[in-house]
Amino acid sequence: MTESRNVVIVTGIPGVGKTTVINTAVEQVKERHGEDVLILTFGTEMFEVASKAGHVKDRDELRKMPTSLQRETQRQAGAAIAEKSKSAKVIVDTHTLIQTNNGYLIGLPEWVVTAINPKTMVLIEADSEKIANRRTGDESRTRDAQAVTDIQIHQEMCRAAAVAVGTITGATVRIIKNREGLVEEAASELADTLME
Ligand code: ATP
Ligand code: MG
Repeated sequence: MTESRNVVIVTGIPGVGKTTVINTAVEQVKERHGEDVLILTFGTEMFEVASKAGHVKDRDELRKMPTSLQRETQRQAGAAIAEKSKSAKVIVDTHTLIQTNNGYLIGLPEWVVTAINPKTMVLIEADSEKIANRRTGDESRTRDAQAVTDIQIHQEMCRAAAVAVGTITGATVRIIKNREGLVEEAASELADTLME
């Protein structure tokens, strides 16, 4: 018997355009195939799990929970996503690496991706300079060269993180370029992945 995998995880650094591309892809799937896709945000799933258990009242309390409880909440959020994917195609909008003062925090540790069991790990990428522009929302700004270099390194690290998820789960890894002004093109590739 072949297993059915219904989850596509979409990652990429902040400001690369994940949410924009996801929303457009979901519209395309609805138009072209008449199918609904459930969009889940990992942080929201974690909050739902933790608030139901009475651990937190608002999202800001999540990161103040003891780390052992945070890890357990991550795992349960993964299980909740897996449960929801039994009856629908699901996209998970999340980050694989979160920049902290003490290096990158792993957004999708082994016990989380094992619970989710994704079909495909999508990594949205864009030109680092364009990302800097998208973040500031000002095309004419004089940019800090170091910041652009950091963006580039973060994107390279996200490739490694995406491959790690593929290695653990057997998910395919797909890089989608979100070119300036061409969201529809990137979305079309994501829609194909969803319908594959
Ligand atoms: P975060 O991780 O912080 O949630 P994100 O990856 O979801 O970020 P978005 O919020 O989708 O990023 O996009 C960031 C900004 O870039 C938005 O203003 C969006 O309109 C713009 N943007 C996204 N894709 C493109 C594109 N292809 N061309 C030009 N602008 C874009
Ligand atoms: Mg977003």
